[in-house]
Amino acid sequence: MRKTYKYRIYPSREQKTLIEEWLNICRVLYNDCLTERRDAWQSCRKSINYYDQQNQLPEIKTFDDGLKRVHSQVIQDVLKRIDKSFKNFFKKVKKKEKAGYPRYKPRSRYNSFTYPQSGFEISEDGKKLILSKIGSINIKKHRDIPENAKIKTCTIERDLNRWYACFSVEIEVEDLDQNEGIRNEITNPIGIDLGINHLITFSDGSTIDNPRYLAKSEKRLKRDQRRLSRAKKRSNNRKKRIFELAKTHRKVRDQRADLLHKISHSLVDTFDLIIFEDLNVRGMLKNHHLAKSISDVSWSQLTNFVSYKAEEAGRRVEFVNPKNTSQECSNCGGIVRKSLSQRVHKCPFCGLVMDRDENAALNILKKGLSRVGQELSKVKPEDFSKRRVIQEAPSVRVG
Ligand SMILES: [Zn+2]
Repeated sequence: MRKTYKYRIYPSREQKTLIEEWLNICRVLYNDCLTERRDAWQSCRKSINYYDQQNQLPEIKTFDDGLKRVHSQVIQDVLKRIDKSFKNFFKKVKKKEKAGYPRYKPRSRYNSFTYPQSGFEISEDGKKLILSKIGSINIKKHRDIPENAKIKTCTIERDLNRWYACFSVEIEVEDLDQNEGIRNEITNPIGIDLGINHLITFSDGSTIDNPRYLAKSEKRLKRDQRRLSRAKKRSNNRKKRIFELAKTHRKVRDQRADLLHKISHSLVDTFDLIIFEDLNVRGMLKNHHLAKSISDVSWSQLTNFVSYKAEEAGRRVEFVNPKNTSQECSNCGGIVRKSLSQRVHKCPFCGLVMDRDENAALNILKKGLSRVGQELSKVKPEDFSKRRVIQEAPSVRVG
């Protein structure tokens, strides 16, 4: 499997200048390649591909000194990037999805370059990153890349005033045969409802909410946005405000990723089968009421984290069809229609009363189990009997 390790790096002032210069050379090349493709198509309906552009490189280099200063593979990677953005564009057009034509990149939106094969090396003590044509940069490796991993590429990335090195590595995972064994021995599965009321509701009834520090940062985000909108155009104050806002955005992003890493880690640690709804998030984003909550909790990020951590740990993750998971009764299977504002599932057929998200999580659990040929009552007999008691309770407090 492919995995990325991201470390902070601390280039010296001279190195920063050099990296900034490379970024700009790459950006100009990117934009030039874009122009060339666009013009060729507009003037003579000719499409230009990666190899066409790569073949021109030696000639361009003879009169462009900038390109000669940058590592040659980094330059080639720029051509790959432009090729990729065109391929993505055409793929979307073909599928009749909404597609934006590849765009010119201003300085603020061109923040990385990649050594696609070689030209980079981590020193033996792990404290330096040695980049060809740039030099030796201090690096902080807060965790190790596994011994059996093969480092494929190294990307140098700017994030406002910070710098990072991202290593894309290939890790061997045990083959599927061993996973087959795990499939038959599921003892601790969990169904997960990613929600609006709670961040996460589990099929065992427990929940996780958005922590307060995130809410606080998000409040600050709003404050920063307000301040920016008040700042005069082209003023120094405005520049300061833009930077401030971007920094708060980064903070929210980091805090959220940190939270989702913790949650996914404990999930993979605890359960051997983790079941999510297969959410077509894009479809749901059209619903404006849901949009904010969805982006806030970054559902797809969580499912991604869980998926790759599970793969490493030999745990199973299943994604089930979300159809009717909130409407169906998890006890008797009857369909109980409810609007988004109805927080409690009350079944007129069997009398089950339960928090709506918990009911959904249970349905997700059942669907996931049947996918792997298991039944809830066989996997969790004790838990299931507890559910029966809830039926007699008059109501469930909804937080
Ligand atoms: Zn029922």
